[in-house]
Amino acid sequence: MKTLLTGNEAIARGAYEYGVSVAAAYPGTPSTEILENIAKYPEIYCQWSPNEKVAMEVGIGAAIAGARTIVTMKHVGVNVAADPLFTAAYTGVRGGLVLVSADDPGMHSSQNEQDNRNYAPFAKIPMLEPSDSQEAKDMVKLALDMSERFDTPVLLRITTRIAHSQSLVELGEPMERAVEPYKKDAKKYVMIPAYARTRRLFIEERDKQLADFSETVEVNRVEMRDPSFGIVTSGVSYQYVREAFPDASVLRLGMTHPLPKEKIADFAEAVDVLFVVEELDPYLEDRIRAMGIEVIGKSILPAYGELSVNLVKKQILAVLGVIGEPGEDASGEAAAASDSDSAEDSGACGCDCACDEAAACATQPGESSRAAEPFDAPIRPPVMCPGCPHRGVFYILRELRLVVSGDIGCYTLGTMAPLEAMDTCICMGASISGALGMEKANPDLARRLVSVIGDSTFLHSGVTGLMDIVYNGGTSTVLILDNSITAMTGHQHNPSTGQTLMGKEAPVVDFVALAKALGVKRVVEVDPLDLDRVKAVLKEEVAAPEPSVIITRRPCALIVKNTEKALECVGCKGCKACLRIGCPALSFDKATRKVVVNSALCTGCGLCAQLCMFDALRKAGE
Ligand code: SF4
Ligand code: SF4
Repeated sequence: MKTLLTGNEAIARGAYEYGVSVAAAYPGTPSTEILENIAKYPEIYCQWSPNEKVAMEVGIGAAIAGARTIVTMKHVGVNVAADPLFTAAYTGVRGGLVLVSADDPGMHSSQNEQDNRNYAPFAKIPMLEPSDSQEAKDMVKLALDMSERFDTPVLLRITTRIAHSQSLVELGEPMERAVEPYKKDAKKYVMIPAYARTRRLFIEERDKQLADFSETVEVNRVEMRDPSFGIVTSGVSYQYVREAFPDASVLRLGMTHPLPKEKIADFAEAVDVLFVVEELDPYLEDRIRAMGIEVIGKSILPAYGELSVNLVKKQILAVLGVIGEPGEDASGEAAAASDSDSAEDSGACGCDCACDEAAACATQPGESSRAAEPFDAPIRPPVMCPGCPHRGVFYILRELRLVVSGDIGCYTLGTMAPLEAMDTCICMGASISGALGMEKANPDLARRLVSVIGDSTFLHSGVTGLMDIVYNGGTSTVLILDNSITAMTGHQHNPSTGQTLMGKEAPVVDFVALAKALGVKRVVEVDPLDLDRVKAVLKEEVAAPEPSVIITRRPCALIVKNTEKALECVGCKGCKACLRIGCPALSFDKATRKVVVNSALCTGCGLCAQLCMFDALRKAGE
């Protein structure tokens, strides 16, 4: 039976069908739904881990114990998991171990767009890249089989378009696979230098075997057609190439480390001009060029953002002399094309190719579903939800003119207007350790420096930073915004929420006790909807010449059943003071010069009312 699945759903289905019995992850867009879908198969033990390193270590342990295992994360998560991953490349596995890295070209929901294909040669592990949902499922099997056959973790690298796009997938029955009895093998799994040196030699031999395998594996296939030009491609770029050039000769690489060098050389020989179409880094291009083969790639296509059918078509046709010179600013075109939700990415030609000139557009009539009518959608910058418990905290942080070392989560939106209360945001957990560095570099900052971090991010990698502040004599204040869920990625549980991914009750981390156990003496809890109290506590704790922790406690507005009445605005003087809180439920009517409350959005949290000197914002009917 065939059914429509996203790439993430297909990977989950593959884990179910191909004998995976342990799955671990930390949520992160665009990978989150893999584990959420695996959790629908009770046969598989699955868990959210506090961070990606822990997830990777759970996976390595399970694989050493003999289970088929899958570990999933977004691209930046692999940076966190890299330490155990690189050594797992030495130890190898007993049960198959697959690491799914979901990369995010175009940074739809990420702080960078690193190309994680580079991890495969770096860690010396093989890599597969699916081009649609069927392949995403099939490659779970291939990756598990390769992992066990070649005694290695396997990287299954996807991108946002593969993760979130739907295509037809043939469903199969789950295979039977028992976990074999455990066998001790210290020389393989204890990586003291003497044993690691032996495994290092094994890796070299394994690499050669994998390179041979890459020459024959079916997922590396030549589609020979018109020999006047050929395109080497992988992942979602294959779909762009096929749509743009249905008659072109294509070498589609599903296994992109090690590369099938002979197959690439033969293909290059068979075509007149060779192109590489790939998103982000010139990963394939550099390696093909290092083989002494002339190839055209990043000289016409951008090394950042997402590609599109029209961009690929236009640039290659231009090189082939069909429509003149390739666009000089292909990078800019890709950036625009990648922001497909914005009306601004319609080019002068009116289609979605972002061409500068209508005459240069390679789109044929009827080719693009959005080509017909330019549209004028309003720009909708991301904003905290109405009733968000974080909103008032950022309002006070800005009012007190504090230096805010921020972190990754929905509260990162505290950097947006009108709150604009964030100075830095680097990566998960960096708010706390970064603040210590700022204070050590500039002691004048100490009495106005605050780290802001959410509950899930604090447990991910903030705990060690707080320990460091105490140990190394820092004196700044850490605000833990506890909204009782991992909100940004879609409400996943974590060790502070009292529930596991499999729906079981779990012990709840006590943040007060944890902070005290780390040596923090000043720990205060506040209701973030009480602005006066938040302000008073912040002033007091920031002034204290020792580390302090403030825990703001209110569940995410989207997970509580709201029983409060919406506010209404009566007797407004039009001073706009309430608008400084930035709630999307409030708007200003230019005709009446009064504020209007959207009762469908308002949760009645009361934050805006605390800013109105005229008592104009009240619960409806009061
Ligand atoms: S603060 Fe009060 S008076 Fe001022 S605009 Fe808002 S509702 Fe009107
Ligand atoms: S009470 Fe005010 S701040 Fe809270 S949701 Fe309603 S309009 Fe927004």
